[in-house]
Amino acid sequence: MHKKVTAALILVLSLMLVITGCGNNGNEPQNQAQNQNQTQAGGQTDKAKESEAEAVAGASEKSYTPHDQLKDSYDIIIIGAGGAGMTAALEAKASGMNPVIFEKMPVAGGNTTKSSSGMNASETKFQKEQGIEDSNDKFYEETLKGGHNTNDTELLRYFVDHSAEAIDWLDAIGIRLNNLTITGGMSEKRTHRPEDGSAVGQYLVDGLVRNVEEQGIPLFVNANVKEITQQDGKVSGVKVVLNDTEEKTITAKAVIVATGGYGANPEMITQFRPDLKGYVTTNQVGSTGDGITMIEKLGGVTVDMDQIQVHPTVQQEKSYLIGEAVRGEGAILVSSEGVRFYNEMDTRDKVTAAINALPEKSAYLVFDSGVKSRAKAIQQYEKMGFVIQGDTIEALAEAMGVPEDALAKTLETWNAAVQGKNDAEFGRTTGMDYDLSGAPYYAIKIAPGIHYTMGGVKINTNTEVLNKDGNPIPGLFAAGEVTGGLHGDNRIGGNSVADIIIFGRQAGVKAAEFVKAQ
Ligand code: ADP
Repeated sequence: MHKKVTAALILVLSLMLVITGCGNNGNEPQNQAQNQNQTQAGGQTDKAKESEAEAVAGASEKSYTPHDQLKDSYDIIIIGAGGAGMTAALEAKASGMNPVIFEKMPVAGGNTTKSSSGMNASETKFQKEQGIEDSNDKFYEETLKGGHNTNDTELLRYFVDHSAEAIDWLDAIGIRLNNLTITGGMSEKRTHRPEDGSAVGQYLVDGLVRNVEEQGIPLFVNANVKEITQQDGKVSGVKVVLNDTEEKTITAKAVIVATGGYGANPEMITQFRPDLKGYVTTNQVGSTGDGITMIEKLGGVTVDMDQIQVHPTVQQEKSYLIGEAVRGEGAILVSSEGVRFYNEMDTRDKVTAAINALPEKSAYLVFDSGVKSRAKAIQQYEKMGFVIQGDTIEALAEAMGVPEDALAKTLETWNAAVQGKNDAEFGRTTGMDYDLSGAPYYAIKIAPGIHYTMGGVKINTNTEVLNKDGNPIPGLFAAGEVTGGLHGDNRIGGNSVADIIIFGRQAGVKAAEFVKAQ
């Protein structure tokens, strides 16, 4: 009897989770009410019901404005509800404006939700508290070196000099990034993460959505902006399609484009990089470069469009990024022949080239139980069904379908290299603190995937979009992955989250100044 009640409860709860997880089409504030009605059947208390719904939906699914509240005119229109767009909206509102955000997907967050490493910033209070001596100059030099001196140095200077302020601003609105780590190419711990060390993206997006809601900023989802309009040489608003059906023309004195990159637009990718044709992408489906296309129609120019960051280790079926920490904690890459073929810790572009040079153009990350315990993300990869396991090396080889002898010999040679601190085969020097000798053994099949588009529209440090003569297009601002130049030809991990907050803030402030001057 007791079991039956429990089973019924589970069934009702599951129903509720499915309904909650369906998202909001932007016209249904009643979704929450529906959820509550559903759960009442389960006999839970209201409080329990609410927290259950929140745990599933997250802040980002319950805060959208019903489409029937859309007005004809706002001070500032922000296109895109990723990190840059929501940050810009909050600053515009704080400057006394009446902004609106249009998001084409059913949820806010964009690629920002997927970001994991953290937010780079120098001379921050959290660094000081933790005794980390850093300087904006060092952050500048290291980012410039990472970008092989191809970065837009004015944007970069603004970026480093305003990074600590951006950390403080987030802290002041309840988004605390005080857990510090380091990413490739940086010499100091300047990558700021949430206190519990979790991935930055979801935490940041939830915090921004919460603030947008608290500030009463309308955020419309399923609102696809198709065109930015102009009148008398100035931006005058947008044309937006709601729920794929209804087109509306909305006016504003300024438009901030925060539509993210074009990593999920295969046509654009192949136009600029034919060699990347057919690559999977880690990007969310809304990253189709719309902002770039719309801005080009108004005479805005682009930079670095062929600079596309490819990540070497992406699970292909789910297009899911397998983080660098797996290699950093000791994993090796082996081919379908069961042998290593390159220094796994070399830069992303070189490891990618080595994988692509294999006949099968894919490889396996192979690791042991020690790596699994040190790289926490592997638990998630396991849940997603990516991890092949074997109690012995031979059993793993069999499960992978690679020659057993070869894999056993590869691990033997590698473990000797780790002991002797000398990888005579491929010259790897890092991620060698531990050998691979703790059963069970594991493997994840990977291949390269598109990760981030460094190119985009050209802006100045006021986030004004520039035309071919280098002049701002009046009323047009842009921030985040839609812009190009800051990262040059190679983005450092942790710099994109910093980019969206620093330049998102600046876009909100400068667009407000522009509107006030009209
Ligand atoms: P950033 O990191 O620069 O903030 P994100 O990828 O996180 O970029 O967010 C960009 C957001 O813009 C995404 O949520 C994406 O779906 C949205 N977007 C892209 N094109 C449009 C469009 N035409 N209209 C409305 N929203 C758009």
